[in-house]
Amino acid sequence: MPRAQESGGVLTLVASPIGNDLDLSPRARREIEEADLIAAEDTRRFWDLCRREGLSPRGRVISYYDQVEKDKAGKIAEEVLAGARAVLISDAGTPVINDPGYVVVNEAAKRGARVTACPGPCAALLALILSGFRADRFCYEGFIPRKEGERKREFERLRGEERTSIYYESARRLEESLKDMREALGPGRRICIARELTKEHEEVLRLSLGEACGLKGIMGEVALVVEGRPPRKGRAADFVQEAEKAACGGERLKDAVKEIARREGIPSRELYEKVQESRRGK
Ligand code: SAM
Repeated sequence: MPRAQESGGVLTLVASPIGNDLDLSPRARREIEEADLIAAEDTRRFWDLCRREGLSPRGRVISYYDQVEKDKAGKIAEEVLAGARAVLISDAGTPVINDPGYVVVNEAAKRGARVTACPGPCAALLALILSGFRADRFCYEGFIPRKEGERKREFERLRGEERTSIYYESARRLEESLKDMREALGPGRRICIARELTKEHEEVLRLSLGEACGLKGIMGEVALVVEGRPPRKGRAADFVQEAEKAACGGERLKDAVKEIARREGIPSRELYEKVQESRRGK
């Protein structure tokens, strides 16, 4: 990939408020006012923000949403390369995070244009830091799948996940998702429902899945944080004897391996291979 060239052009990803306009940073205001070109997810919402905040952008404002990303990204990148100061801004929060942006970042970077970011609100990160769960390692998973089968598979996968996971979810589907989550992870796993962050009615609920399933009438915008499972007690090799014992007791080796692997959150194939290796005397 080429090094960024010194045309003076730059693409700046500008984070915007997710509920409290005071979160629009002084730098974001300057970038918006001084840009030659502003690519906004929704131009109407962008102008609303400008009106509320008394901003007077001098540049051209174009719409830039998921469906036009591929068409417009290359052109924006070319303008930056030719020396334009461009801003990319989404309706609320940090561009690219479940919002348009990565295509133009990639196009600009590929061509050697300078890309930078003006940081600010992001619901996922706010929910994470307010959850009280470990944040030394975490996974951002975007929106919970709408289709039941996919959703259930996603939550099954979480059984063995030691990292804290963050999801976005619509309040309408929350009850159903929490029920599926409880089924997959058990009632004891802790979660955090972060609602209406930075807004007047911000609410952060830290509770078990059992408790969460009793909740009714959660409204507004929601980010969901799921605590990771406790660190594994051991590696696959540590459970070979237990699997062998179960097999000696009459259980099918494959079933025993599957059950232990599920319980311990380790890949069952790995445990099965360890049992076979130990049988071969490795
Ligand atoms: N790019 C945005 C960001 O940085 O947070 C996320 C955009 S995504 C399309 C919108 C989703 O983010 C909402 O459906 C909701 O799940 C979550 N979200 C946005 N604002 C929120 C808020 N104030 N409180 C809680 N969740 C929020």
